[in-house]
Amino acid sequence: MVQFNDAFAGNRALDMRAQEEERYVQAMAPRLGFPYIYLRGYTINPEALLLIPEQTARTIGAVSFDVKQKVVSIAAKNPSDPAVIELIANLTKRKYAAQLYICSTQSLEHVFARYKDVVATTTERKGVFEISPEDILKMKETIKIKEDIPTLMATISTANNIRRISATLELIFAGALALRASDIHIEPEESGIRLRYRFDGVLHDIVDLDSYIYERMMSRLKLLSGMTLNAKKIAQDGRFTFDTGEKEVEIRSSIIPGAIGESIVMRILDPTVASFSMENLRLNEYIKAAIRQQIKKPNGLIITTGPTGSGKTTALYAFLREAHNEGVKIITIENPVEYKLDGIVQTQVDGEYTFASGLRAVLRQDPDIIMVGEVRDLEVAETAIHAAQTGHLVFTTLHTNSAAAGFPRLMDMGIDPRSFGTSINVMLGQRLVRILCTECKEAYTPSPDEVNIMKAALVNHPYQLAVPENPTLYKAKGCPLCGGTGYKGRAGIFEGIIMDEAVEEAVIRDPREHVILEAAKPQKIPSMLEDGIEKVILGITSLQELERVVELPTADALEKASKKKAEPPEDDFYSHII
Ligand SMILES: [Zn+2]
Repeated sequence: MVQFNDAFAGNRALDMRAQEEERYVQAMAPRLGFPYIYLRGYTINPEALLLIPEQTARTIGAVSFDVKQKVVSIAAKNPSDPAVIELIANLTKRKYAAQLYICSTQSLEHVFARYKDVVATTTERKGVFEISPEDILKMKETIKIKEDIPTLMATISTANNIRRISATLELIFAGALALRASDIHIEPEESGIRLRYRFDGVLHDIVDLDSYIYERMMSRLKLLSGMTLNAKKIAQDGRFTFDTGEKEVEIRSSIIPGAIGESIVMRILDPTVASFSMENLRLNEYIKAAIRQQIKKPNGLIITTGPTGSGKTTALYAFLREAHNEGVKIITIENPVEYKLDGIVQTQVDGEYTFASGLRAVLRQDPDIIMVGEVRDLEVAETAIHAAQTGHLVFTTLHTNSAAAGFPRLMDMGIDPRSFGTSINVMLGQRLVRILCTECKEAYTPSPDEVNIMKAALVNHPYQLAVPENPTLYKAKGCPLCGGTGYKGRAGIFEGIIMDEAVEEAVIRDPREHVILEAAKPQKIPSMLEDGIEKVILGITSLQELERVVELPTADALEKASKKKAEPPEDDFYSHII
């Protein structure tokens, strides 16, 4: 038996009255000559809402809930009311056309309630997000490790609703800065809204946000980024800046629609990256000498290869800085311009201005050095090679897994390998490894398997680098200084193949990677794996971290290799019989 109490019965009566009204409005709409609309659960377009001030809307019982190409959708309880007609006349003067609907009281109430949030949102200046330096400094002091963020978030959840959205956003940005995150990810999932940060190249779960915050935060972030508020089914890009007191931080935001809701990723563009020099890359002396030598040349291609997030752009910026001096003109074509470099003309791919057309235009600007963000098709590759052959030094990137794979990649695009010798200077391969936090890294004695892995990795080292007797390695632990992750900062591990006669001949004869590598052996440049193992032995990074970015040999690889050597090679065996 269901028990009713008075309050419940009262609500029920209200509900029934509302339902009755809804049915009545719906039935009357055709007779009054207006289309009927039900606005509860409808996404209200904030741009439209603000076309009618809240006070006016409440007084005359009409709201604007959507606007597309200057056509405003207006819902009114009594669309024939002279006040509504006057409102529409005013909008017409402002060059808006109106589409008029009839709706119930509860539809109006639903829209009235949206004013509070939208007004609070739009008082933020578009494109600039103000966080006071005091707030940032205070927050930075309290956030030592990523686990501090959920704790702080819990205290914010008790704040009133309007303040809660601003406070949550401030915490998200302050947390990202305190932990030196490069990207902020907000992803709606079945179970909740996930907030993740990427720092030192790895994504970390931070906290789950509730859907109340998510909806309102997305509108505000879209507004800040200069995106269209009401489009939920399209991908959008934008950017905004905010002042931390110490420096102005630029954020590049990107939204994509999803099954559950929109995901946003915000990249924090750290101005210190633009000042990244070759010294910061922690190049080993052999690769450093090779790169310096190639950058000094007046022409030719310098290509860095690697997957997304391997630091190709960071490395190119460092090389550009190295090559930059008063006497040279440098022009870049990027997608998009991530960091501004002093004294360099930077252009950005946009619509008609593609990598290919941009490169042709840039060549008419009499540059000495050109950077092309990426070679992804034959047209760009051909133009870049042409530029390199006509007296320009050209920096670019290719999306491949290793330096040796860069040559067959260009051939797959349709480039004749016979042009490599006169156009390519050096093909580089790279990854980024996280640097162990010097405050908390923990020394340990590696297991026999780990020692064997390292020995197998160094078996062909050009300078016979050996694993020391009784080696001491380091692993990540975590302390407040490194945000509890055990790592702080990143270093590059590099390999490179200089274009010389032997490499050119090999590429034309047989462009398989192992053939090219064999031809490049006399250049004596360590591989990415060898460079990485050396950084493990030096305690710069851990073996676990290296394994995350490159494939390590197996523990028994060394044994297998030596067994193979002991058996007579097959060729000799058959030549004997013949
Ligand atoms: Zn630490």
